[in-house]
Amino acid sequence: MAGKYQAPRGTADIVPAPYAKEPVFEVHRWQAAEQVFRQVAGLYGYQEVRTPIFEDLDLFLRTSGETSDIVSKEMYDFTDKGGRHVALRPEGTAPAMRAYIEHPMGGQGVVTRLGYFGPVFRYNRPQKGRYRQFHQAGYELIGSPSPLADAEIIDVTVRFFHLMGLADVVVKVNSIGRGETRADYERAVLQHVGGWMADQDGETRAKAEKNPLRLLDTKDPDLRRVLDGLPSILGFLGDESKVSFEALQGHLREQGTAFEVDDSIVRGLDYYTDTVFEVVSAEFGALCGGGRYDGLVEQLGGPSTPSVGVGIGVERALHVAELAGQAAKPKVATRWYVVAATEAARDAARGLARELRARGAGCSLDLDGRSVKAQFKQADRNGAVLAAVIGDDELAAGTVSVKDLVTGEQKTLPHDVVLRIADD
Ligand code: AMP
Repeated sequence: MAGKYQAPRGTADIVPAPYAKEPVFEVHRWQAAEQVFRQVAGLYGYQEVRTPIFEDLDLFLRTSGETSDIVSKEMYDFTDKGGRHVALRPEGTAPAMRAYIEHPMGGQGVVTRLGYFGPVFRYNRPQKGRYRQFHQAGYELIGSPSPLADAEIIDVTVRFFHLMGLADVVVKVNSIGRGETRADYERAVLQHVGGWMADQDGETRAKAEKNPLRLLDTKDPDLRRVLDGLPSILGFLGDESKVSFEALQGHLREQGTAFEVDDSIVRGLDYYTDTVFEVVSAEFGALCGGGRYDGLVEQLGGPSTPSVGVGIGVERALHVAELAGQAAKPKVATRWYVVAATEAARDAARGLARELRARGAGCSLDLDGRSVKAQFKQADRNGAVLAAVIGDDELAAGTVSVKDLVTGEQKTLPHDVVLRIADD
């Protein structure tokens, strides 16, 4: 029955389980993921923000960096009818920080913890685990320079994965330094790849020169070979960065986080300073990306505000949970289906539905005079677990027959007893 239109390439409809094209797009899994997002927020004191789906393009140009893949290749941007250049948000941190400054939630010595959950958009080549519209759950800890803040964000991240059913995640952490020492390292990288650069086109060279660290997460096998033997970024860290990174590792050990230091992690966005981290899966690559971004608030016109955060890819977390056999089970949304077994019982069926709902019990019923058989079929499709059947006998006796749709067991009970069951 497929119609003429389909969801755009790289996007997916999230629909009730029987209709989903892939298990990860079953809506109950998303409801569970949202619940995990909120549960984790509550456990650590993060408050939710919901920002617009689109923003001024400039917000992302300024924060992600012109040479980032996001800005240079992947942005869904357009000029609106008022001539404003806007973009569908490609990530969640810049909008959350814009909102933080706009309202303003911070202030001297104030620490603000924010969370968000929602769709983001990137024009890239779709494949399993990579979409053009996907969802990020994010947490931002704004206003603390302490490595304890980095450790908390990593703990929050691991907790999110645990509650999604992924018990054994290992966090890869690195420090990319800041300021002058980072610039020293960037020069060292450029020097190291000098021969390779000479063979590249102008655009590739210009990009590499603008942000040499980006070269480090290349998938190009030639460049990978060239990068062999490059000194580690960790050898270039300034004293403060070094001390923070050591302290972070101490805190991670103390809180029992499974982690490894991986100096190849540099992250794709310009705004990171010092700590960066990822959780990586063999099948789907990065499941999340996070780190410290001490310059971001200032870059957006706010006061200097050291901050750290994470963005978690929800589709990928769901894919991995599915592979691990840890997916959320469907929950019963609407427990009852009221069946009118005869024409004469239709009014009474609607009356029972009203009474059930007044008690907070979810129920659905046929509105189109369908046969009893069709009503039971509909009850199954709706995922109902109990059918409340009223026919001529029940009408006469003031009873309701309750059928358990899972076991097939049926009992005829007084009307008020059925309402009491509904209260449970
Ligand atoms: P990033 O903002 O690039 O660090 O992305 C954060 C997380 O979002 C990544 O670690 C992935 O889990 C997820 N992600 C990034 N790009 C995509 C995509 N195109 N489709 C699905 N998930 C993605």
